[in-house]
Amino acid sequence: MSCPVCMKPYNTTHQEPMMTPCNHSLCLTCLIDLVTYTHPDTQVQGHQGQDQPAMEQGPPHLPKGKVVLCPYCKEQVNTDQLITNR
Ligand SMILES: [Zn+2]
Ligand SMILES: [Zn+2]
Repeated sequence: MSCPVCMKPYNTTHQEPMMTPCNHSLCLTCLIDLVTYTHPDTQVQGHQGQDQPAMEQGPPHLPKGKVVLCPYCKEQVNTDQLITNR
């Protein structure tokens, strides 16, 4: 299984698979890209940090309570509603 957005294989860190309430899945990194694209003022810990390499910080934290549009069906998805397939 790989993320249909960035084509990278799912894993348990940066490409952790996330399921939306509309039953679409994409990886954590693509989701955070979506959040920061939709809400440019969002601060994301561990994502594209300028001071430290991202790999040393572990996976980035998904911001809570942000509404983004599902890249597949354009449904509104709140990041609080995402399901982790862990
Ligand atoms: Zn992805
Ligand atoms: Zn969807």
